[in-house]
Amino acid sequence: MMCGLEIHVQLETESKLFCTCHTNYQEADPNTNICFVCLNQPGAKPYPPNKEALDGAVKIALMLGCKISPKITYFMRKHYDYPDLPSGYQRTSIPIGYEGDLNGIRIREVHLEEDPGQYKPDMGTVDFNRSGIALIEIVTEPDMKSPEEARKFLRELIRVLEYSGSARGEGTMRADVNISLEGGKRAEIKNINSIKGAYKALQFEMVRQKNLLKRGIEIKQETRAFLESQMITVPMRLKEEAEDYRYIPDPDLPPMLADEQNVEFIRESMPEPAHIKTERFVQEYGIQKAHARVLTSEMELADAFEEVAKEVDPKFAALWMRDEVKRVLYYNKLTFKGSGINAVQIVDLLKMLQDQKITTKAGQRIIEKMPHNSKMPRQIAEELGLVGLVEDDTVLQAVHQAIEENPEAVSDYYEGKKKAMNFLIGQVMRLTRGKADPSKTHQLVEQELGKVES
Ligand SMILES: [Zn+2]
Repeated sequence: MMCGLEIHVQLETESKLFCTCHTNYQEADPNTNICFVCLNQPGAKPYPPNKEALDGAVKIALMLGCKISPKITYFMRKHYDYPDLPSGYQRTSIPIGYEGDLNGIRIREVHLEEDPGQYKPDMGTVDFNRSGIALIEIVTEPDMKSPEEARKFLRELIRVLEYSGSARGEGTMRADVNISLEGGKRAEIKNINSIKGAYKALQFEMVRQKNLLKRGIEIKQETRAFLESQMITVPMRLKEEAEDYRYIPDPDLPPMLADEQNVEFIRESMPEPAHIKTERFVQEYGIQKAHARVLTSEMELADAFEEVAKEVDPKFAALWMRDEVKRVLYYNKLTFKGSGINAVQIVDLLKMLQDQKITTKAGQRIIEKMPHNSKMPRQIAEELGLVGLVEDDTVLQAVHQAIEENPEAVSDYYEGKKKAMNFLIGQVMRLTRGKADPSKTHQLVEQELGKVES
């Protein structure tokens, strides 16, 4: 199969694309963030395009490896008839960037559009708060070969958008996917609002088309809608040809000359995109790609890792940040940024671990206390009484006690039940309040049980 995507996401701007109305439509009462311009009233002249939106589009295009249109940019009117669009046309720019690439999927173009209002067919009402908000549209070539590949691409794209700081996330995503199987025509699926939806729609469509082809039925070129509630696609209308939209340049908006200096400024100040950072981490720190992906899942986490790696062995840091820091963030449903944990704190913790001032177990407990906590791990460790590895004598004593108190586990051990060993180690950990070194404990328990048997 071949699959291409067209993805719309709202840009993160203070005001709309062609007027000064606010973009916080989700918090505002319906139809309060509006003016004559974004209501598309006859004769209302749009303001010049929002610079924040234009720069954001250029930044995202650059982060996707696109070439930037070197000449003039202008807006077209794309005509269609729907209640959310009183003027009967949507303003959409010519490509701002083109010929990009994201992990081997070619990006055909990136352009700007204005969002229409929100039509609610069941109520017969339209809310125009959303109308005129700047959207970025990213169009790929049909380079994806499976629903899994499309899902992977979308996840990576959302990471790029999040890194850019110029776009809103998956929550504002609307995607159209096109799919064709060998021997069939191309179908386009609209109304997809999530990565999961795109995956399900493609899966459904692939099976549907395969079954038709198997039965010798021709696949029509058509547009289908995805019904999220049922995870199926249904026919919508015959595919509109491009000329149906009767594109014309918008005479209310003068063409803009590309400002090369501005583009260069954006290129130099933009963040390194997640997919490129991932590759660099593998090269520079010698860590596995899967680990690098976790560390770059959030820009702030990636930045912190690089800070930590200046002071602590990068592989050791990667292990702790990927496993333990991420575990605690996940458990508390926090982002790294939202957790308030900083690189200095992580360095402090990792140094204690490296110097064997605390055990692994103690390290894990300290990390659990770190979100929303300005204390240094050293102080947390002292407060919890976790500083200092317990001396071998004490551990040995605890081992003896654990063996004496748990004859059942001991006999299980001799019967070859592996779990018994873990249980006994757990008992030693409990008796030493987690201060014993786990591998040392394992060794001692084995040694002492060996003695008992002989
Ligand atoms: Zn407005």
